[in-house]
Amino acid sequence: MKKIPYNTALISGKELSYIQQVINNKQLSGNGIFTQKCHGWLEKNIGCQKALLTHSCTGALEMAAILCNIQPRDEIIMPSYTFVSTANAFVLRGGIPVFVDICLDTLNIDESLIEEAITSQTKVIVPVHYAGVACEMDKIMAIANQHNLFVVEDAAQALLSSYQDKPLGSIGHLSALSFHETKNIISGEGGALLINDQNFIERAQIIWEKGTNRHQFFQGIVDKYTWVDIGSSFLPSELIGAFLYAQLEKCKFINRKKKLLWNYYHQGFIELEKKGIIRRPIIPLNLKHNAHLYYLLLPSLAVRQNLIKYLKENDINTVFHYIPLHSSPAGKKYGRANTELNVTDDIADRLLRLPLFPTLDYNDCQKIIDLITKFFKK
Ligand SMILES: *Cc1c(COP(=O)(O)O)cnc(C)c1O
Repeated sequence: MKKIPYNTALISGKELSYIQQVINNKQLSGNGIFTQKCHGWLEKNIGCQKALLTHSCTGALEMAAILCNIQPRDEIIMPSYTFVSTANAFVLRGGIPVFVDICLDTLNIDESLIEEAITSQTKVIVPVHYAGVACEMDKIMAIANQHNLFVVEDAAQALLSSYQDKPLGSIGHLSALSFHETKNIISGEGGALLINDQNFIERAQIIWEKGTNRHQFFQGIVDKYTWVDIGSSFLPSELIGAFLYAQLEKCKFINRKKKLLWNYYHQGFIELEKKGIIRRPIIPLNLKHNAHLYYLLLPSLAVRQNLIKYLKENDINTVFHYIPLHSSPAGKKYGRANTELNVTDDIADRLLRLPLFPTLDYNDCQKIIDLITKFFKK
């Protein structure tokens, strides 16, 4: 029987010819023609002031932590239900992640719990747009403005999703995207820092190029190329930029294909939800999402274990995430939960992610729906 994987990378078609162009041009290091084309694409389609490609979303978040000037003991408010890099990037600068609970509908940070987590040490709020579904950005930006905090959007999963017609990644002071193989648009490993606050642009370019003023030097603004700030090698090679540009050109097509499959699942699980057995994702009004992933909330951890096993026996690979950061070994050591995180603890045990990738066959999609329906009939 044919195995259905959780994810398969989609190759859009032009990747090799763009990489060949880079090889022909013999300019392989970063910030060449394709990297700049990617920057232009992101700036145009997301509407950020400046985009910089990075090796990963992790790298983009690390740049954001440097730009926000995180000092030892500064506090960063974020959900616990997220990938480790959301927290790690700030911990590397001595910051303390302060975890708050999530909303039961979107599984995004509960904006009504942010204010009570703010102390005199708080510097940044990091909303994570889980599954490509937007956080309540109006409220979060209002809280940040009132308390003089920065907002760094972890938009790793949210390329071309929007909040009230504003693309995600264009709202916070800084935002981070991921092009990891498991995301909608990929370059193997890859990411981007998006800048929406003019004041960050010059320093971001310096941090990006190892703490040097290389950019200003090549623009003729300064006459010496030298070490001026902390930084690292955050920029990827042109080979990555070439691959990524071929993907970005197909972004709308890829998102559309995933959306159709997402809708197919959503329709297919109505009956199980009506019977009160499972819960489907909830998308608030006024949001456009990019169908990054499809999940079900199951009755319990035991049911999840049994269902994963049952699907595996039928050659279907499903996965779950995350171990909440506040209950992980490093999360306990470096961060703190502001209160009990009841919703986080509850859903982390019950969430199951189903296969969803642009080339997934509708027959396979139907097979998964039928098997899960059959499982709950038993
Ligand atoms: C994937 C992901 C990251 C990390 O992305 P990389 O590009 O692998 O570094 C960070 N945050 C969230 C929410 C993610 O889903």
